[in-house]
Amino acid sequence: MTISFHEWVKEPPPLKLRILCQDPLVMATQGLGLVSVKLDPEQYLGQGPTTARVAVVDYNVDLDKIFAPVQVLKNGQGFATGHVNQANLRKNFQFHQVNVWAIVNRTIGLLEQPRLLGRPIPWASGLGRLLLLPHAGYGENAFYDRATGAIHFLYFEGREPDQPVFTCLSHDIVTHELGHAVLDGLKPYYNEVSSVETAGFHEYFGDALALASSLTFRDVLAKVVGSAPRRLTKELIGKIGQEFGSAHDGDTGYLRAAFERRTMREVAGNYEEHDYSQVLTNAFYEFLARLYEDRMKKERPKSGKTGLDGGVAVAALVNAADQASRTFFRALDYCPPVDITYLDYARAVIQADRIAYPSDEIGARKLLSELFVERGVVTDVKELEPPQRLRNADLHPYDVERLSATPSDAHRFVDANRRALSIPRDVNFSILRLYRTRKESVQRYYPPQEIIIEFVWSEDVLLESADLDLGRLTKTYLRLYCGGTLVFDRNGNVLHYVLREASDARRTKLIEYVAYLVRRGRIGFAEQGLGGNAKGIHQIVARTNGVRAMLERDAQLRHATRRGGLRD
Ligand SMILES: [Zn+2]
Repeated sequence: MTISFHEWVKEPPPLKLRILCQDPLVMATQGLGLVSVKLDPEQYLGQGPTTARVAVVDYNVDLDKIFAPVQVLKNGQGFATGHVNQANLRKNFQFHQVNVWAIVNRTIGLLEQPRLLGRPIPWASGLGRLLLLPHAGYGENAFYDRATGAIHFLYFEGREPDQPVFTCLSHDIVTHELGHAVLDGLKPYYNEVSSVETAGFHEYFGDALALASSLTFRDVLAKVVGSAPRRLTKELIGKIGQEFGSAHDGDTGYLRAAFERRTMREVAGNYEEHDYSQVLTNAFYEFLARLYEDRMKKERPKSGKTGLDGGVAVAALVNAADQASRTFFRALDYCPPVDITYLDYARAVIQADRIAYPSDEIGARKLLSELFVERGVVTDVKELEPPQRLRNADLHPYDVERLSATPSDAHRFVDANRRALSIPRDVNFSILRLYRTRKESVQRYYPPQEIIIEFVWSEDVLLESADLDLGRLTKTYLRLYCGGTLVFDRNGNVLHYVLREASDARRTKLIEYVAYLVRRGRIGFAEQGLGGNAKGIHQIVARTNGVRAMLERDAQLRHATRRGGLRD
């Protein structure tokens, strides 16, 4: 068969799919179920589905079985899932494969677009495709695992007979886990054991992404604000992971709630990352809710009507969600590469917003500053300014195109400017990331395109304490990671600089955090020989090599919850 030139260069068609916009419980109880979505054309579309960035591998570890992959329709516009409805959707595994793939692909598209990050997201595995296992095994969990470059979705018995809960059918769980994979790709050192704030940041990012992605579905928006309320209430929004939560923890009916207000004072002394994450998740939610309220205050009913039109409210919520995602996610490029604190993040949010919108016409920075003070991230707005500002003139004369040509060029530049960048003379740092962004803003304002350099080094901290029990880790050395992020515009002006250097405060914090993990039994030892694998029992696996300790997060129990007894 010969293929005509016209056929050969033909653009593939967009994909039209049916997916679940929330989860089967929300579908049954609130009528928010299957929705039609259109996805961008894929140059390579294979069974599974398999595409350039994502591949579904339906392997079940417990059964050691591969379920048949879904096939691409002949017209290339979708997949052969057959007819899907409420009665059969739990049994249709090919639908599950398409559902999980589509939600992941759609959410990656949301993040990579120029209005948000404006660049492709790398996977920490180093592989081109993120793998998704929609029926990886039995269990009340779902987890991302860097070693395999995969997200594993498990299933378990629900409260109703014959109604198993498939975590791959929950939009919020799929997007939350994707959040771990995305953040691990962008900031691989945030997965290191360093502090509860960094661990909490991972959980926050997943929950905020789930919320942002939810609000891209027209049906969800209409359900939330279709009656044009002046304010968002907790009944309407912020219920994350409803089905999983109800089956799992009957008291709350959801996994974690974005609207639950938490302050730094309330979580102080608490080392549980999910609790800690709520400080930021709630700041994200509250920013969105207040933008929505502000917009609705300005709206007046049309003449002859008493209430507002639902379409007005939907537009207000779309705008608010769009702005919250932009403001909070773009700040990632302004964060340090290691051991992030909530103060670092708050400063990055303010600075990234200032660069993108110098004039702050809607008062977003004022609102953000208030939120960070209310949540106790800072006690005074002045703390949100960088402690010292790096100016172009502080650096040796440079050509930004040359210094950013390759990681070696960047290394040479950073090395030559150790004094200005406050990098100790003796540390052996490496360039972790060198990348460029291509961002757009709303209302035809063109923000600077950025060149970003991240570098890291480490020092050894002796785990020793007069009053804390460090168990078998006592007198071993653990790595304390240090590093910085330097942001230029394409003309070479310094836009932002942040450094996490070693300090006694950081060393003490690391020891306290490790002591907490030891106290809670969350560190297991990987022994040599038979039966020595600590995985499946503890959350962090320790290996010691002489006097050096290596702690590795065991993703499998990342979401251990109350019932399992591992969560506080
Ligand atoms: Zn998580």
